[in-house]
Amino acid sequence: MIPIKNAKEIAKMRAVNAIVAAAHRHIQGYLSAGITAKEIDTIVEDFILSQGAKPNFKNLYRYPAATCISINDAVIHGIPKAVALKDGDIVSLDFGAVLDGWHGDAARTYAIGSVSNSAQRLIEVAKECFYQGLAEARAGRRVGDISYAVQAHAEKNGCSIVRSYSGHGIGRRLHEEPAIPNYGAKGQGALLKRGMTLAIEPMINLGGFEVKVDADGWTVRTQDGFLSAHYENTVLITDGEPEILSR
Ligand code: MG
Repeated sequence: MIPIKNAKEIAKMRAVNAIVAAAHRHIQGYLSAGITAKEIDTIVEDFILSQGAKPNFKNLYRYPAATCISINDAVIHGIPKAVALKDGDIVSLDFGAVLDGWHGDAARTYAIGSVSNSAQRLIEVAKECFYQGLAEARAGRRVGDISYAVQAHAEKNGCSIVRSYSGHGIGRRLHEEPAIPNYGAKGQGALLKRGMTLAIEPMINLGGFEVKVDADGWTVRTQDGFLSAHYENTVLITDGEPEILSR
């Protein structure tokens, strides 16, 4: 069953996702060459706590940090380490928060200093893929309509879609039904209804779609070593335009 949120619950989802969005804005001011992933993690965690919420990634499935920080060929689930960012890196920050029992989740990929044209384009295509998916996030359409739109845009732009990981419903738990794959066929999958809250999160690669997991058991990387980008928001299905809660 895909949970439907009532007006009161949606207000809680708005509140927690506003904190996640604010944390993304806050950390942007710190992102330059020299800062370590570990330092970024601490700044984000402190900010979320300062807003009265808690980081919801920490300890979930025994994940050891508040944020996932995935650099260059890392796709998702990068454990923040004492490694400094360098000029020309791209870094995906994925994190969420929980407030009053309700969850928020958002990811962005940022450029550090000046990056290659292909890296910059990859970041833009990931964001565009999210918005292509968002356009299908309407009552009466299906999960596969989102999946298809994301995949079509990525592939039209010469990028590939990570298949082993998906977006997800979100609410009382960080990960709820339905799974939202970033590839698929129109008209397939669960019917979207008003009051559903979904984390739509394209993960796209410059090279092939295949990924592998590091020895740390978490960090997912592209198998061919090419760059990867990630863009995610928590979205509310309404009667009309979807509402981005984590903006
Ligand atoms: Mg997510």
